[in-house]
Amino acid sequence: FFVTELKGEIILSNSSFCVYQIRQHFPILDQMINEHPLIYLDNAATTQKPQAMVDAIAAYYLRDNANVHRGSHHLSLRATAAFEGVRETVKTFINAKNTKEIIWTKGTTEGINLLANVLSKGLKAGDEVIISALEHHANIVPWQMLVESLGIVLKIIPLTLQQDLDLKSYQKLLSAKTKIVSVTHISNALGVINPIKEIIKLAHQVGAQVIIDGAQAVGHLIVDVKDLDCDYYVFSGHKLFSPTGVGVLYGKQHLLEALPPWQGGGEMIKTVSFEKSTFNQLPFKFEAGTPNIAGIIGMGAAIDFIRVFNRQDLIDHEQSLLTFTEKALLELPAITVFYEGGVKSGALSFAVKGEHPSDIAMLLDAQGIAVRSGMHCAMPLMAELNCKGTVRVSFSIYNTHEEAERFIEALKKILEMLE
Ligand code: PLP
Repeated sequence: FFVTELKGEIILSNSSFCVYQIRQHFPILDQMINEHPLIYLDNAATTQKPQAMVDAIAAYYLRDNANVHRGSHHLSLRATAAFEGVRETVKTFINAKNTKEIIWTKGTTEGINLLANVLSKGLKAGDEVIISALEHHANIVPWQMLVESLGIVLKIIPLTLQQDLDLKSYQKLLSAKTKIVSVTHISNALGVINPIKEIIKLAHQVGAQVIIDGAQAVGHLIVDVKDLDCDYYVFSGHKLFSPTGVGVLYGKQHLLEALPPWQGGGEMIKTVSFEKSTFNQLPFKFEAGTPNIAGIIGMGAAIDFIRVFNRQDLIDHEQSLLTFTEKALLELPAITVFYEGGVKSGALSFAVKGEHPSDIAMLLDAQGIAVRSGMHCAMPLMAELNCKGTVRVSFSIYNTHEEAERFIEALKKILEMLE
């Protein structure tokens, strides 16, 4: 047994992971909202931050602050070493081959826009890009912009009646015209885990390149880009206990080498004259301007923090919260659970008969419970599901079973009140 003391109480746990111990690293969780202890179930929007991450940012600004890669003075060397050390951390975390494959971005949205922009240089009118019915707007709109500017054709993998992706239809969409397949690993709206290994394999058979939107998956699954064999994988730091405004674009080295740069400026060049510039090597070719140094150092500290735990223990814990919550929701006649019975990760969406999702979210907030309501940046999915939005609860490693129970009790109280 592992022994933890929490506010004078001794807590025993039989795995390397104890949720009460984890919570001590997230000071924000220990507060009252509307005279109730905060229950934060909006982790799919953004996760809370461990003390170690905040401390790492403070330490950088208080001790090491300097621009990276530019100075030969001591502070700059120290900042550069910390900054480049995080590239190594991320490389190991997602099992990339080397650090040249790790490009810093502002987040998932920027990663997809970067790829849509540089990959478009190799596309022509009539070329096809496949996305899915489960995508976040960030993986829809950049491709629609190419439909407008280039005349590419956007094809959508539809849903089955169970509300996951219809792989038979996907196979029919694939052809020699397919140049890019860009799909999400986990749906932010419904929590569906897509069979991306299969999706990637099928796309490669027709010679298409595959982008995976890992915004939701990176905080909930063990991501191994080599095993997945995806060509590109993008995610945001803030969904992984890291600061906002930093993210990662992973790409296979030989593919990134072949792509033109995106933004121009300092850092991404080797030489500049008024006649012509030459470009830096990977990964710097895609990193114009001063990066979010503190944010990236914070992301390194956040990843170091979760790597202390056995990831599978964390995943099992979140899974047990989801399973408990779905079962309890299904016992309430007024509730419809989306993707009912399917294996989900992170998030769970539901509707309350006759009630607007925002009203339910507001009434939960009155009891200190933070959930998300609305379209979840997935309007086409909501249209397909024929609903005006859902209430979404999304768990993270620091949520407890008592919180899941209190959420269900609070919802029951609301349903009684609305009767
Ligand atoms: N893709 C998915 C699946 C998401 O859940 C999100 C954010 O919610 C995004 C993309 C966009 O991420 P960001 O706003 O951090 O760029």
